[in-house]
Amino acid sequence: MKTSQKGFVSPALIIGIVVLVGIAGYFAMSQQAQPLVHVPNSASEPSLSSVLDSDSSAQQMTQEVSSTSPILTTPEITSPASTPKTPESAFINVPVRIHLLQSTHPEVQAIMTQDEVRAMFDGPDGVNKRYWNQYGINLKIESIVKSSVTDDSGYAQAIVTNSKVSPQQFGGLVPDQSSLLALDFVVVHNFGNNGGGLTLPRKGVMLVPESSIKGSGSKIMTFGFAHEFGHILLGGPHFSNSIDPYNIMAVGDPTVYIPFEKTHLTPEQITTAQVQAKKGTPNLTRAWE
Ligand SMILES: [Zn+2]
Repeated sequence: MKTSQKGFVSPALIIGIVVLVGIAGYFAMSQQAQPLVHVPNSASEPSLSSVLDSDSSAQQMTQEVSSTSPILTTPEITSPASTPKTPESAFINVPVRIHLLQSTHPEVQAIMTQDEVRAMFDGPDGVNKRYWNQYGINLKIESIVKSSVTDDSGYAQAIVTNSKVSPQQFGGLVPDQSSLLALDFVVVHNFGNNGGGLTLPRKGVMLVPESSIKGSGSKIMTFGFAHEFGHILLGGPHFSNSIDPYNIMAVGDPTVYIPFEKTHLTPEQITTAQVQAKKGTPNLTRAWE
């Protein structure tokens, strides 16, 4: 997929772009079930400098992170929505293609390897086994490709200057797609302060950064893949944290940033996701047109 993106995104597309900012996940590298309390100075905590100079939501997060008060209202951990175990043979397979962006701009150039991608999807803590298989849905890697884009200078400049990335600049990261047979994940190196991911539902494109205001590391990134995929199947908006902060589609809870534990879906979400997934590509992306 050597691709080049034409440098113009139509206004209709821009309007249609649903910016679905994503991942929760600050200090959440732990696999324990209950580390709900943010421990300042935790080794796994990203540097605060990464959340400074940011937009209002980031500032809000900064304040949350800066708070030293203990967690007062610990949301109850509920067990995942009880659904009958789906045998592997009955999984609804959704083909996905992963683009590792190639660029002269380090902010854009993906550095992860194909093996790391495969582990994030099919490893024991991956997108499938940890998040989606329990709901009968399986993301099936069609291919992992190195894709170049030629219109990423504006994006790179925005990241370097800690600016808000415009829809046009995000559009510059989308490689041409030669196939309609798979959804496209686009791995970009750094999202800066622009959230933890972005989904363009109509195009079936999900942008997932290796590093962002939400942090970095395989668990955060794996959740990013799982969460953005959820936007393809379920659209927006995000799920209410007050109902269940452990929902895959919940983000932004000030007390709980443990993406590794955000594996829940409601029965209604499960039904919708399965109906959508069964449509197959490219039809499943058309629900949001
Ligand atoms: Zn989201």
